[in-house]
Amino acid sequence: MTPTPTVLVVDDEKPNRDMLAELLKHDCRVILAKNGTQAIDRAHELQPDLILLDVLMPDTSGHQVIQSLKHDDATRQIPVIFISALDSPEDEEHGLDLGAVDYITKPFHPSIVRKRVRNHLQSVHHRHLLENLAMIDSLTEIANRRRYSEALENEWRRCARSHSPLSLAIIDVDHFKAYNDQQGHAAGDIVLRTIATTLTGFMRRPGDLAARYGGEEFLLLLPQVDADSAARIGNEIRSAVEAMHLPHPDSPVSRYVTISLGGMTATPHDGQVDPQFFRKADIALYEAKAKGRNRVVWQKTAS
Ligand SMILES: [Mg+2]
Repeated sequence: MTPTPTVLVVDDEKPNRDMLAELLKHDCRVILAKNGTQAIDRAHELQPDLILLDVLMPDTSGHQVIQSLKHDDATRQIPVIFISALDSPEDEEHGLDLGAVDYITKPFHPSIVRKRVRNHLQSVHHRHLLENLAMIDSLTEIANRRRYSEALENEWRRCARSHSPLSLAIIDVDHFKAYNDQQGHAAGDIVLRTIATTLTGFMRRPGDLAARYGGEEFLLLLPQVDADSAARIGNEIRSAVEAMHLPHPDSPVSRYVTISLGGMTATPHDGQVDPQFFRKADIALYEAKAKGRNRVVWQKTAS
């Protein structure tokens, strides 16, 4: 499922904007800007997949616009194609030096503009696919460890800024080795996928993240959730997994597949993730296992 790409067309002359919009309307959603300031605002706000940028504009030139876009983390990665009446090789080289992916000279040939835009959108699409693949666990199709690490850093900073709690749970499938040994790895894989789907079902607010940490271990990251609420969510998840009644004849804990959760809630004070955050959740998990598994143990300290 590919969402329709969005292209921002920037040109100070209305006939040019109209012509480009008409030309591209079947390949993408076109948004327009008539000057440099508007271009920077719209790029920021709407995060287009590609920008067609006029060079000669009265207030802010295309060169200034691209420099501003490339200086901003939020817009740096958006590819820019210059469309310019400046047609010397030096102009073209200058445009490419500023970070444009392509340079089209005016007057342009409609069919060539269209094909070049298509090619660049194709590249953008491939890049998104790769970025996505690198962040997703291939077995369970939920976030992987890398995606989790990235999210942890972001959410830690965000919670530090807003003085909010951040909760983390580490989840382990009880006696999973015995399950794999007895039922086979294919059945084990199905259990991991089923648990991943269940976890995802409980991630209801923006910022909530369920990830596979590796093997039979999963992680939940719950920003702005205090220890009591997080422990309650953990318990609901634990009981939802047990209630699926996936038979586990070799488990000393239950007839069914169950999970243990160790959790930790911190209130971050600065931007650096405290390594104790994960360690304490891990200690809580160890405690949940030591106490007989199929349970939740939650830690809470000011961090
Ligand atoms: Mg112009």
